Amino acid sequence: MSILNGLKMDIEQLIIPPRTIALSTTYQCSAACKNCCFGCNPIIKDRLSLQEMKDYVDQSMEYYGDSIGVLVLTGGECFLGYDLTKIVEYGASKELIV
Ligand code: SF4
Repeated sequence: MSILNGLKMDIEQLIIPPRTIALSTTYQCSAACKNCCFGCNPIIKDRLSLQEMKDYVDQSMEYYGDSIGVLVLTGGECFLGYDLTKIVEYGASKELIV
């Protein structure tokens, strides 16, 4: 085994697969803090649809397999969304901690 092959094996052992899916469901928020890193505020209405969120979960789990164990839902204020309980249920159905 060459030095480079040995180095490649060492690097591969250091790769940590992703454990968490984090979805910013919306940038709408009931507040409008000056220091908000996403610029969230009550005026913004755009949000991920339930289908988009499901698709991102499915794509992530398909690509990364068993390493994914957690689904984080954030915003903005994700509780303003009517689909929040449905995506929580969907994540739980995939045995994710939500
Ligand atoms: S997401 Fe957090 S920081 Fe941003 S406006 Fe809402 S409460 Fe403030």
